[in-house]
Amino acid sequence: MKKVCSKCKQEKLLTEFRKRLNTKGVNVGTSYCKPCAKISGEEWAKKNPEKVKLSVKKAKAKKSEYYKKQNKDWVIANRERVCRREKQRYYDNIDRYRAKERKDYRKRYYGGKDGLYHVYLLPEEHYCGQTDNPRWRKYQHASNGKITDGFEMVMSFKTRKDALKLEGCFHDLGWLGKNANY
Ligand SMILES: [Zn+2]
Repeated sequence: MKKVCSKCKQEKLLTEFRKRLNTKGVNVGTSYCKPCAKISGEEWAKKNPEKVKLSVKKAKAKKSEYYKKQNKDWVIANRERVCRREKQRYYDNIDRYRAKERKDYRKRYYGGKDGLYHVYLLPEEHYCGQTDNPRWRKYQHASNGKITDGFEMVMSFKTRKDALKLEGCFHDLGWLGKNANY
């Protein structure tokens, strides 16, 4: 079957036109042949850059929405498998994950830094120490099994040296701690 393109007026095979079905569902082809349709589409796009942008954006959103939904549906349908996979991934990379968890934790606790050196006491342990990050230090003590109830900051200094001096005084008075022989 042949058809005349209404743009270039050439008679071409129906396969050289884009598909268009009439009301009976028979392919009658578009009025422009494929090359003419392409050219006229490009001309339209040149004249309507905003419309093109919008339709590209819409198409992208639709696509990503589709994949998102499909992904979600798949996860719901395969929940157990996904959980197993995630768990396995965790155990396969446990060292890396553990290190990351520790790092994240430390990062959170570095919020406790204020640029000063603090001398602190753990009264329950009769322990004295100094640190530039009291929150982190307290957490470390607790995770090492020390009782941190009553954790008390005695004095703060601009330099570690000054903090160590005061800490030394406490050690001289019998308080326990790492720097007993400072
Ligand atoms: Zn044509």
